[in-house]
Amino acid sequence: MSTHDPNWGFETVCQHTAEDYRFEGAVVPPIFQTSLFTYETGEAFENRLSDEMTWDYTRVSNPTTDIAEKKIAALEGGEKCRLFGSGMAAISAAVMSACKAGSHIVCTNAAYGPTKYLMQHMLPRFGVTTTYVDGRDTDAIRDALRDETTVIYIESPGSFFFDIQDIPAIVQMARERGIVTIADNSNCSPYYQRPLSLGVDLVVHSATKYLGGHSDIVCGAAIGSRERMKPLIEMEGLLLGGILDPFAAWLMIRSLRTLALRMERHAQSARAIAEHLVRHDAVSKVYYPGLPTHLHQDRIAAQMRGASGLITFRPAFQDKQSVYRFCESLRLFQIGVSWGGHESLAIPVSVPEKAGKWYVRMSIGLESVQDLIADLDAAFASL
Ligand SMILES: *Cc1c(COP(=O)(O)O)cnc(C)c1O
Repeated sequence: MSTHDPNWGFETVCQHTAEDYRFEGAVVPPIFQTSLFTYETGEAFENRLSDEMTWDYTRVSNPTTDIAEKKIAALEGGEKCRLFGSGMAAISAAVMSACKAGSHIVCTNAAYGPTKYLMQHMLPRFGVTTTYVDGRDTDAIRDALRDETTVIYIESPGSFFFDIQDIPAIVQMARERGIVTIADNSNCSPYYQRPLSLGVDLVVHSATKYLGGHSDIVCGAAIGSRERMKPLIEMEGLLLGGILDPFAAWLMIRSLRTLALRMERHAQSARAIAEHLVRHDAVSKVYYPGLPTHLHQDRIAAQMRGASGLITFRPAFQDKQSVYRFCESLRLFQIGVSWGGHESLAIPVSVPEKAGKWYVRMSIGLESVQDLIADLDAAFASL
């Protein structure tokens, strides 16, 4: 049985790609919860690394993890995926794989906070420096490039205000200069955007978010060509050692079965809620890439197939107490970090870049959308 067909659609990949380890006819692969694999003979042991299909040690590879990696590689349109114990493990490995002492990074200032912290506070210890720019401004990225620039790091859309970067234009300027592009694709998931198909070199994920989707695992992924992934896996992957545990990999396989269905529902509900908020008197601005009013419609049309379930809005009431009370009054939306799971979340946010104004960032979960809208309306009414 062929375990992958390049013509398979997204949903078919989720069900059938890499299902090589069937036992007793079970439709769900086993969890190889083992740290090592043994051999019958000294000869087999001696030759264990010469055969690609020989398992050895779980920090190197594991059959359960391998299934999840092959599915995610196919979904992103990449040759190779490596799963990590968290998004930050994947991001730090990917960034470090493209830097050496003296390297310079250009990073969008809308990138995930700890990603920027890594670049600002840890990488300088190894002689790597970073310039942050408004990633929406392609000229600002070009102006920040230096002879030593080895990485352009993008996150489009971001996860708070959904800045959209012009990925094809950024890729072109990077390629002309031999610079590696890395894109955090956690917000869209491969269902709504495939940066590798736009020419990006490495895609990274907090797979804790939509890929996992059930808020029960912390996971990261890096995806790219075989050529680019081989050194990343052999150096940062194996030596920093931030692997995904086989049980978490098995939960990831479970999660991928419904990725397309979940993304469709997150998007459908988010669109309905965004449209509802736009009409609401207590809301002065709605940020959602799925609304036709988004600043960068042209880029969205060119590089995304849809928008996910993240929405941010600026309430008309701007005192901290009211914003907190609004979030506390919600019954279905809970207050908490992370996003992309089955459950709806809402957090109060105030950032210096937005002149200290208050916002509410929501992750729209898989509850009935009419219940979510009623929950929001009741919280507005309670103020
Ligand atoms: C959560 C998040 C990360 C970090 O992922 P972890 O799995 O928490 O390590 C990276 N990028 C984005 C956009 C995120 O939201």
